[in-house]
Amino acid sequence: MYRKNAWKKYADNQSVVFDFAEDYKRFLSECKTERLVTRFAVKLLEKKGFVSADKIKSAKKGDKIYFVNKNKNVAAFIIGEKALNEGLRILGAHIDSPRLDLKENPVYESKGFALGDTHYYGGVKKYQWVTVPLALHGVICKKDGTVVEVNIGEAEDDPVVGITDLLIHLSADQQAKPLGKAIEGEDLDISLGSIPVDEKEKEPVKANVLRLLKEKYQIEEEDFISAEIEVVPAGKARDYGLDKSMIAGYGHDDRSCAYTSLMALLDSEAGAYTSCCILVDKEEIGSVGATGAQSLFFENVIAKLASLLKDANPMWTARVALENSKMLSSDVSAAYDPLYASVNDPRNCAYFGEGIVFNKYTGSRGKSGSNDANPEYYAEVRKIMDEANVAWQTAELGKVDQGGGGTIAYILGNYNMNVIDAGIAVLNMHAPMEIISKVDLYEAYLAYRAFLK
Ligand code: MN
Ligand code: MN
Repeated sequence: MYRKNAWKKYADNQSVVFDFAEDYKRFLSECKTERLVTRFAVKLLEKKGFVSADKIKSAKKGDKIYFVNKNKNVAAFIIGEKALNEGLRILGAHIDSPRLDLKENPVYESKGFALGDTHYYGGVKKYQWVTVPLALHGVICKKDGTVVEVNIGEAEDDPVVGITDLLIHLSADQQAKPLGKAIEGEDLDISLGSIPVDEKEKEPVKANVLRLLKEKYQIEEEDFISAEIEVVPAGKARDYGLDKSMIAGYGHDDRSCAYTSLMALLDSEAGAYTSCCILVDKEEIGSVGATGAQSLFFENVIAKLASLLKDANPMWTARVALENSKMLSSDVSAAYDPLYASVNDPRNCAYFGEGIVFNKYTGSRGKSGSNDANPEYYAEVRKIMDEANVAWQTAELGKVDQGGGGTIAYILGNYNMNVIDAGIAVLNMHAPMEIISKVDLYEAYLAYRAFLK
């Protein structure tokens, strides 16, 4: 078999793998929302000489340019030798992760508690989100145009929030329910406080919490209407396993692939084809909306790029460029879990430590909703990987009829471009604590770099 354990490549020197993981852990700990990833990406892009498209009137071969969309998407390019309509080499990842969002009218009081009402975002197993320390990240947008940034629960002396669960002693009814029903979505409310301040207030505990928020952020209760507060696991990404071979953290799906894709572009030079890294939002809820992969943002950006290159017909060039492009849809894959072996076909699943995972197709119930890459293209990609000595493996998302999932691959496939899913295997996917292998992270970086070459 072509499968091999990637750690063997580094038997003499593991430090390259471990050093890369240190920087990634810092990124993952700091960037728990799409906006924070976007800001991080822009900072690194500028440091590496990329220029915002807003600041230039024209572009030429070798230029490094980036576009930002509504603070939640980034598309960065290195202009290649060949004309744009000959196609690009694209790495695309999503930077949103499953979480709980505060509702528009979130704060309420009940029997001495102030609570925050949430609506979960993406696919979550609800029982995993109770009794874990949670943090609040996001923005509150006021009518006067100011945007207040919220970050509570990460600093050492910050409080955390959380969702309570029943004590085992009184859980007879709850424990008899199926796992998916034991915790209801409407019960995923976070505890915000318990001190009543002014007894004249009808809801004195809530009033106190709102007072604290007003002091810290100069906001009124009504401002939550136009807010985007994400309730996410508190704390930093950490080494996992006694050999420190793995990383435990929140949001590996899909920030592990977003980070490695971005790094691959940042560390690339101008090549024959124009290179691109695109980071999108909303994948976990169907790639919808202005900042999701289905948005025309990306197509428009290619047209803008064509017009910066003084193309005579930028819209048409964009369409042709997209059609002739080749892409890796950088998204995570399900890792084989020895505790739940039965959900996988052992010959067609992803193993920790065996490198980047290629999924020819994802989908569910007979590949439904999947991109299903063309074998001609897959063969090209295999060649690139082998010539670059990248450790790679192939997988399906579980056994046939076991479930399934999707990525952004099919959306870019709609442009008639060749796309294949390629990403990092994850354990505990969508849980507050996801796990990846450090060597897989590094191999993904190497794979993305080889692809852009
Ligand atoms: Mn994903
Ligand atoms: Mn996901």
